[in-house]
Amino acid sequence: MFVYPKVFDVVVIGAGHAGTEAALAAARMGCEVLLLTMNLDTIGQMSCNPAIGGLAKGHLVREIDALGGEMGINTDATGVQFRMLNATKGPSVHGPRAQCDKKAYQFRLKAVCERQERLEVKQGEIARLLVADGVVEGVETKMGVRYLARSVVVTTGTFLRAVLHVGLEQSQGGRMGEGASGFSGHLAELGFEIRRLKTGTPPRLNGRSIDFSKLTRQPGDEPPPGFTYCPELLERGKDDIFCLNHYEGDRLVVDQLCCWITYTTRETHEIIRANLDKSPMYCGIIEGIGPRYCPSIEDKVVRFAEKERHQVFLEPEGRHTGEYYVNGCSTSLPIEVQYAFIRSIPGLEKAEIMRPAYAVEYDFAPPTQLKPSLETKLVAGLFFAGQINGTSGYEEAAAQGIMAGINAVQYVRGSEAVILGRDEAYIGVLIDDLVTKGTNEPYRMFTSRAEHRLLLRQDNADLRLTRLGHRLGLATNARMEALKRKEEALSIWKERLKKCYVDGVSAYQLIKRPEFTWSMLPTEFQEVPELLRSHLMNDIKYEGYIAKERIVIERQKRLMETPIPDWVNYDTIVGLKNEARIKLKNIKPRTFAQASRISGINPTDINLIMSAVYREKAYARRG
Ligand code: FAD
Repeated sequence: MFVYPKVFDVVVIGAGHAGTEAALAAARMGCEVLLLTMNLDTIGQMSCNPAIGGLAKGHLVREIDALGGEMGINTDATGVQFRMLNATKGPSVHGPRAQCDKKAYQFRLKAVCERQERLEVKQGEIARLLVADGVVEGVETKMGVRYLARSVVVTTGTFLRAVLHVGLEQSQGGRMGEGASGFSGHLAELGFEIRRLKTGTPPRLNGRSIDFSKLTRQPGDEPPPGFTYCPELLERGKDDIFCLNHYEGDRLVVDQLCCWITYTTRETHEIIRANLDKSPMYCGIIEGIGPRYCPSIEDKVVRFAEKERHQVFLEPEGRHTGEYYVNGCSTSLPIEVQYAFIRSIPGLEKAEIMRPAYAVEYDFAPPTQLKPSLETKLVAGLFFAGQINGTSGYEEAAAQGIMAGINAVQYVRGSEAVILGRDEAYIGVLIDDLVTKGTNEPYRMFTSRAEHRLLLRQDNADLRLTRLGHRLGLATNARMEALKRKEEALSIWKERLKKCYVDGVSAYQLIKRPEFTWSMLPTEFQEVPELLRSHLMNDIKYEGYIAKERIVIERQKRLMETPIPDWVNYDTIVGLKNEARIKLKNIKPRTFAQASRISGINPTDINLIMSAVYREKAYARRG
């Protein structure tokens, strides 16, 4: 056994999307950090589609960026196509999305981690944690190397006891071509509950074998909607061969690639139906639950039997590769069936599969075992983030990663945990959902999960979070300066708009009309940058709703600070779980806010107590 001669503040296990954000955040905040992973060549690898963002996920990336994370900058640097999804709908559901160059994304992120001060990056598979008296003290690799640490963040993704399925063939691995890890067995020995989930990926085709003349083009948006709030940070990567794009002022400059659209046919569906007995999901071999909202093609054909066709997107995997990702055709059918159904799709009659589709089953640790800081309730100083918590998606993983990194630092420093509210960030919604409700299927973010959507727009994440990121030492001064410039510009233009009238109508009123376009405003307003225009329009158009929303939030907050009367009898409150009853009787929380922070007490319990208190008070008033 070899004990490495340094005690780290934070050790991060796994260098996927959660692990890299956790490690970078902790090192940027001033801690000594070690990032350990099974394979250094797969840092930041995108296991599935090399696409970042999209509906609600785009919000998460903007929030990570606003706090001082890397995902947004890395996407801007390596994206090959950028679009704003839902652009014709209300501003709360706009979702920036980018198709990235898979290898450039990965290699640039590796370079960023290698260059980060106070961050060491090493290869090693972790077999066990070092725990004494319920406190984590370090990790031990399979080869017997021990790294001592004050805190540990586990971000092991889809690799825990992972099994890959292609038809009835099975092999071990978290991704095709890679190994699996037995680390979850050790977590179970420590006392963690471990369960099973699954996900899948479609085949990759050689672009040379696709007949693009039969497909519909899907170009990127111009100008490309980038992710970072601080474009000058991309300057850093100017000499970097993996940095493909750059900013000119606020405008992202990208030589955009095209994506393509085609559709499945009746024949495709017949082939799939005829072979369902060879799909491990349908013949009962896979026991884990899959993502309901990202169904396999087998699932779509069975669940939506009435549909004559399903959309298929062909998306390039990079600028220097001919591989195309077949978005919409995730499957675990055998390779010969994959060939048959893929070749029944217009444009793909001669398609050559370069990598087969497959499903992966893996262990996860139900996230109700975590505090809102992502620290485990069982072992102090131990944090879990990413797919190990039952989520699916790079953005969800990165969002948890940055928060686990921040809170590992706060733990080491003895400072209060940073917990984002549901009214502050999608990240707050994500973590609150996970730790209070848990999940039975791979959890992904949707705008509908956020009750305060109008406040949590993708265009205002910097206004919501950059000050916090800067206070924590995570967001740089450059980010803070960019925020101040934006706030100042917003306030100046709002003042000018207040004083502006067009044909006797105030600009504020004009902007609220459905037929409004920016060109209706006088010439002086035509110099307002594109990004500020949409922000100004959204703020002005929805000011009434936003004001109402803030009142509701304030009322809720005040309610939570209301004292819980001494006379409350938890034994008589119908619906409370026994475990909750015991904890409430023991702890006797003073306020609803304090009650809500007790582990195991969820929002439903709080509502039950509130109703009981108000019923009793109303009864007393009536005499
Ligand atoms: P990962 O990105 O999986 O990274 C885990 C890291 O931990 C790796 O670096 C690994 O080497 C390391 N590691 C594991 N065990 C150990 C150990 N014991 N010691 C040291 N290092 C270790 N997401 C979507 O949004 N849409 C999809 O359609 C989609 N499809 C997917 C299909 C497949 C086949 C797979 C595998 C994943 C898919 N995902 C999809 C999920 C997406 O890849 C994950 O959500 C995301 O990568 C999770 O990030 P993470 O950081 O938690 O883990």
